[in-house]
Amino acid sequence: MPTGKLHIVPLGGLGEFGMNCMAVRGGDDILVIDGGLMFPEAELLGVDIVVPDISYLTENRDKVRGIVLTHGHEDHIGALPWILSELNVPVWGTEFTLAYVEDKLDEHELLDDADLHEIKPNERFKVGPFTVHPIQVTHSLVDCVALAIHTPLGVIIHTGDFKVDPTPTDNKLFDLHSFAEYGKEGVLLLMQDSTNVERRGYTPSERAVRQKFEEVFAATKRRLFVSCFSSSIHRIKLTVEMAWEHGRKVAFVGRSMNSSAEIAEDLGYIEIPEGLLIHPGEIKNFPEDKVCVLISGTQGEPMSALSRAAVDNHKHAKIEKGDTVMLSSRIIPGNEKAIYRVIDHLFRRQAHVIYDDGSVPPIHVSGHASQEELKLIINLVKPKYFVPVHGEYRQLKLHAELAKSMHGAVGNVMLIESGDVLEIDELGARKAGKVNVGRVCIDSGSRVDVVEDLIVKDRRHLSEDGIVLPIIAIHKLTGDVGPPPEIVTRGFNTGEDDGLMDGARQIVMQTLEQSSDEERADYGVIKEKIRADLKRYISKQTQKRPLIMPVILEI
Ligand SMILES: [Zn+2]
Ligand SMILES: [Zn+2]
Repeated sequence: MPTGKLHIVPLGGLGEFGMNCMAVRGGDDILVIDGGLMFPEAELLGVDIVVPDISYLTENRDKVRGIVLTHGHEDHIGALPWILSELNVPVWGTEFTLAYVEDKLDEHELLDDADLHEIKPNERFKVGPFTVHPIQVTHSLVDCVALAIHTPLGVIIHTGDFKVDPTPTDNKLFDLHSFAEYGKEGVLLLMQDSTNVERRGYTPSERAVRQKFEEVFAATKRRLFVSCFSSSIHRIKLTVEMAWEHGRKVAFVGRSMNSSAEIAEDLGYIEIPEGLLIHPGEIKNFPEDKVCVLISGTQGEPMSALSRAAVDNHKHAKIEKGDTVMLSSRIIPGNEKAIYRVIDHLFRRQAHVIYDDGSVPPIHVSGHASQEELKLIINLVKPKYFVPVHGEYRQLKLHAELAKSMHGAVGNVMLIESGDVLEIDELGARKAGKVNVGRVCIDSGSRVDVVEDLIVKDRRHLSEDGIVLPIIAIHKLTGDVGPPPEIVTRGFNTGEDDGLMDGARQIVMQTLEQSSDEERADYGVIKEKIRADLKRYISKQTQKRPLIMPVILEI
């Protein structure tokens, strides 16, 4: 492409929730902003994560100068293992963001070959011909930045995810000054987070949840379980502080909660006083009113620590009558069923459950800017062109309308979606064609199990490895298991080994036996457990990965 033109090419996140990835191209140089994943919907059976199709990048691999990260949420960094295994380019991110990235790459054995560069707010760096200026912003996570990218045509600002929190718990303030400075000098393009465009007013500060936390800590007589996203460092910090003030020991339960807290402590975001932390195995050694458990699993993920504790199947986290469980998180649309299932189990255990029911003071606040904050940034930046990013189509559209209504602050508003190419030059801005985008489904987060898309994946599964249907009869009322499970297969070659299906039946029986009555009565949980156990068994025995779909028959 000729120099003097700029291409803005969203590869994900514009018109869908998650999978944020944006290519900025000037001449023969491409800079990528973020590489996020999307969590699959329940229908995507057997798929663990969804990442963006990056064929635009691989087709231009000699031009890609690197990936710059705005912050460490999964919808911004979760696709990196997959992207870097296709295209090993340098990655820039803040200290905290890189700590998450390192964890992730390590898990995929990609860390040794990765070329990671730490950046600091206000310290400019070069990516190919682009000078990038990271600007500190506030969000539900810590160490987040917006990016001002200097191009020959002018400055582009990408906000990343943000809200304007005047009182962040880490006291690292939103750098409104830099936005204003750029506004004075002139900004070519502003790309702004659309997630909360439907909300009026201002998003409350992270500190707003403190009042509710105080009420709950003061009122709780027995064990207190606090569940939040493992990346909610502000919330973990608050819980640790309150536990300390109320004389409760703290236990972290769940792998993600542990590793996230460890990173936050290492980097000085949370301080854990000597002697406060106990191992989950020690919970039982302390009086009920002296323990606070931080537990992962706010979205009802079937195998999470909270889901398991809710059905009394967690080794250390026992939730009993009169205990309090606080879910300090939002209910992500699509997860309602799973979350309310967990809450129901908790009610059945006669626990006192506190969740985001819209009451005030809030138990959870959003990390994304509401309308007044969005307008504030637009006013400060006064961009020539404006592009809404991070949102489903209606959010992008509403954000575009909001910006259009701000006469005098915005030049042209351009509404584009993933795959559109926005071309900017001296004459103007226009949509100039499309590139290939889409969802790539990945099994077990492993880079070798990449499959092209869901349909191809299903077909491949069926044609190469077939399908396995374990059929289990369960008494609806008692939760008792009926006759031994049947296993029906199609296109799955069991080979010479007659013992394979006997073994599979035994695995299913074993899984059923080791599950509690409540788990057996919860078909979502029991199906997932059977699927996971059978998948492990079959792939170990045969190196094959058939589609496994447990079927429960109520008798
Ligand atoms: Zn975020
Ligand atoms: Zn995000």
